[in-house]
Amino acid sequence: MPTLKSRTKSKEYRILSFLNARMDLPSTDKQHYENLEKGYNGELLFDQLTLMLQNDLYILNDLCLQTSGFFQIDTLIIAQHTIYPYEIKNHEGDYRYELGNFYPKLSKNEISNPLHQLNRSKLLLRPLLKSLGFHLPIEGDVAFVNPNFTLYQAPINEPIIHPTQLNGLMKKLNEIPSKLTTRHKRLADQLITMHQTDCPFTRLPHYSYDQLKKGPLCADCYSLISFVDVQKKILVCDKCGHSELVDSAVLRCVEELVLLFPDLKITTNRVYEWCGRVWSRKQISRILKQDYTLVGFGQWTYYE
Ligand SMILES: [Zn+2]
Repeated sequence: MPTLKSRTKSKEYRILSFLNARMDLPSTDKQHYENLEKGYNGELLFDQLTLMLQNDLYILNDLCLQTSGFFQIDTLIIAQHTIYPYEIKNHEGDYRYELGNFYPKLSKNEISNPLHQLNRSKLLLRPLLKSLGFHLPIEGDVAFVNPNFTLYQAPINEPIIHPTQLNGLMKKLNEIPSKLTTRHKRLADQLITMHQTDCPFTRLPHYSYDQLKKGPLCADCYSLISFVDVQKKILVCDKCGHSELVDSAVLRCVEELVLLFPDLKITTNRVYEWCGRVWSRKQISRILKQDYTLVGFGQWTYYE
């Protein structure tokens, strides 16, 4: 069963991963970054399960849609007769449900209510599907995926999937009668076209070029690589041991630079500096020419 839209890290999450390695994030941003990381890992856990489904269903991961307002759907499953949006939560530890709200077990500070998020998605999804000519019922659940999550006083009538019910949910999805048609495919394609890559729920700290630590980041663990053997064609992370060809590492550094500073012109000098001055300008220039086009002349040349 095809996953029509795969999951990628959001721009906000990617930027925060880079900033976290290159500056001391203010504590609220650090917390936000850790929440994004945890949430993303939870979504990947859910993906591992949906990937095993054999039934005739379409899976669209991580949709950000705009109707009268923006809304995000972690996973949307299209079956022949029903649409299932899932709100995925990776909370860990003991929580309690009280008078319609969620709290850490021993705290009075409620957490944002995932049932409200799910309901909002359903509410905005309904007219959208209608406008695309679909009048299918919308079901869907909040899925708690962390095996160490417990919800005390959980309501039995709310659409909640507990970690111990995930396998049951997959079994149910595998067994619902579903035969997709070209109409369903068209719906899926339309939703993918409507996906907004710049989702507005972004919260980033202020940062500037000068303030950030320079040097290559590991492609795997995102830590700043402090030792580079410039004689070698391979860059090895001194924290996790991940290795990568230097050319690919430099091009990744450039992509990161463009993401963090979209207005900055990419010059050999700039990239040389951004990579922590470990590789020579000549080397950098050779690598840039593989993937970028040189624009301008003399001291004003830059890459696009
Ligand atoms: Zn690493």
